[in-house]
Amino acid sequence: MDFLLSEQHQMIRNTARELASLEIAPRASNTDEYAQFPWDSLQALAQSGMMGVLLPTTYGGSGADLLSFAIMSEEIAKACANTALIFVTHVAASQGILLGARDSIKDRVLPLLAKGQKLAAFVATEPDSGANVLAIQASAKDAGDAYVVNGSKIFITSAEEAEFYVTVVRTGTTPGPSSLSALLIEKETAGLDTGRRFLRLGMNGTSSGELLFSDCRVPKSNLLGQEGGYMPVGLAMAGTGMVGMAAIALGLAQASLDLSIDYAKSRVVAGQPLGNYQALRFLIGEMSVMVEAIRNTVYGSAVSLAAPSPGWPLAALRAKLFATESALQVIDKALQLHGGTGYTKELPLERYYRDARGLTLHLSPTEVIKDTLGLILLGMMPS
Ligand SMILES: Cc1cc2nc3c(=O)[nH]c(=O)nc-3n(C[C@H](O)[C@H](O)[C@H](O)COP(=O)(O)OP(=O)(O)OC[C@H]3O[C@@H](n4cnc5c(N)ncnc54)[C@H](O)[C@@H]3O)c2cc1C
Repeated sequence: MDFLLSEQHQMIRNTARELASLEIAPRASNTDEYAQFPWDSLQALAQSGMMGVLLPTTYGGSGADLLSFAIMSEEIAKACANTALIFVTHVAASQGILLGARDSIKDRVLPLLAKGQKLAAFVATEPDSGANVLAIQASAKDAGDAYVVNGSKIFITSAEEAEFYVTVVRTGTTPGPSSLSALLIEKETAGLDTGRRFLRLGMNGTSSGELLFSDCRVPKSNLLGQEGGYMPVGLAMAGTGMVGMAAIALGLAQASLDLSIDYAKSRVVAGQPLGNYQALRFLIGEMSVMVEAIRNTVYGSAVSLAAPSPGWPLAALRAKLFATESALQVIDKALQLHGGTGYTKELPLERYYRDARGLTLHLSPTEVIKDTLGLILLGMMPS
């Protein structure tokens, strides 16, 4: 099903698909195996104008909608989930700057991000805060015309390569969200250093690392939104990021189904193609239902969040939860269908599985999303 995609969205899908298969897919295996940051793939996205997909044309972006972004993320992920995660992070962080920065910063920074000349990162997680943003300790103390930031962040996608860090800091002393602010911190700022880089189960090309702030002086003009006003900026970024993460999961699930159909036709066991076994046709049937359900949820969330609105992006929370968990099941079925071959590095399936595994952890782990949805629906979410 084409989800009633408009001609324009179909065109975007075809362009993204062609670019991903020609320019990104051939590099995906090396990106994973050698933990190489995929600069060439990002360059290809930049040349096609995709890095500024959601930014207004006045800043050099494409001014496209969230569905276009979801379709691009899906197609890029089918080729290389590492590139897709860096892309989604960049686009979501750029949204934070668009929403919260003052005009002089937007005029200087957004054209660089729209053209993909510089990368943006989203910087929230700390060693002791985990998934709970309210536990963030990195402090930003008022020092006249600047904030002095101290603290450390961990697991940051593009930690070493980004130039603009949308960073969550504590500006107040009370426990609630009104003590949190978002700051745009630039790479060359004195007192900011990168720390360890982590090798992980998957997503190794994304350069997951630490950021260390030691008396890092950030001009007050780099505040995004109001002091104590992290939540509106953070929720907007979360909405975009979660739709993007869900779309990456969709891309990986679709790619696994595609591989499985090809394999069931071509692999002959004891004189029979695998497709002759009803048990394996069942698997393919189940996978196809799940992939379509993921696609409908992801595209539906993108359409329903098209108009920015204050508050929790419920559709994005649901899509992220459903798509990332379901994609793992689809990829697992695909591995089963491929037997021992699926478990080897001869095929990209094992990479899909490892990359997809990180999606249920990042940007609110599954359990946190479930709890958040429950709290919102019961009217128990603290404001
Ligand atoms: C691929 C990847 C990319 C990432 N990129 C970034 C990035 O760019 N920027 C960034 O800031 N962070 C990033 N992260 C970090 C990520 O957001 C955190 O890993 C996540 O928020 C969980 O924090 P934690 O790892 O400290 O887990 P912990 O907080 O230690 O939690 C461990 C587990 O406990 C459970 N849990 C925790 N809190 C609750 C709760 N309140 N209710 C119920 N269960 C709970 C969950 O199952 C969770 O998985 C990335 C992580 C991954 C895997």
